[in-house]
Amino acid sequence: MLKIKIITLFPDLFPGQLGVSILGEALKKKIWSLEVFNLRSYSKDSQRVDDEPYGGGSGMVFRPDILANAIDEITNNQPDDYQIFYPSPRGELLNQKKIVEFAKNTSMLFVCGRFEGIDQRIIEAYNIAEFSIGDIVISGGELAAQIFIDAVVRTLPNVLGNSNSLIEESFAPNSEYENLLEYPHYTRPAIWRGLEVPAILRSGNHQQINLWRLNESKVTTQQRRSDLWQLYKDKKGNKNECN
Ligand code: SAH
Repeated sequence: MLKIKIITLFPDLFPGQLGVSILGEALKKKIWSLEVFNLRSYSKDSQRVDDEPYGGGSGMVFRPDILANAIDEITNNQPDDYQIFYPSPRGELLNQKKIVEFAKNTSMLFVCGRFEGIDQRIIEAYNIAEFSIGDIVISGGELAAQIFIDAVVRTLPNVLGNSNSLIEESFAPNSEYENLLEYPHYTRPAIWRGLEVPAILRSGNHQQINLWRLNESKVTTQQRRSDLWQLYKDKKGNKNECN
């Protein structure tokens, strides 16, 4: 079972969307577990959990001593047994390949920042891995942690109804679709507002359908994401031109 623990000032934000649909079912099936801890409970004598930044500037910073109390207690003084994460715009930018790697951990602890963030010393002292969900700034680490957890849990065995979904979707590592965006999807009705579903998808010829889909993926990636397209071509030894 993947064990996930969260340190936050806003425990009510959990499980949030992690509690519904596929992820909620996986939680019930004990494929993963979630425990949420309020950082305020680890400050002694109602001391504040944050303080002004040294060097001046706006905003507040989480104190390292109180974070350390929380991490030590939550991990039973075995912080090394956990991969500890801090969501941060300064962190390593996430992608599906890294998610699949991270999913090999069995115990994860997330420190959700607010305001300006957390004291640098706690990151170094506890060897905390920083990850970013993109070059944007959001108001707190909770949403970023949920994005990370969502992405990790859906790669675990028996979470998705059809494990082929994982192999064919956008970015799927080690598949034909690695570094590619997904092909477009269509469902009923076959004709809507005069717009017809591509005939090949209704042909029943699965080999042709697979070829068409792969080509659509390539065309879309080439048009929308030159960075990914370059990675794809590099990996395939430049052999793959769009048809
Ligand atoms: N002063 C920081 C932003 C703080 S935002 C800076 O300029 O880098 C408050 C909190 O939101 C952060 O501590 C972090 O946990 C979270 N956060 C904001 N943007 C994020 C992002 N792109 N990825 C991951 N976490 C983010």
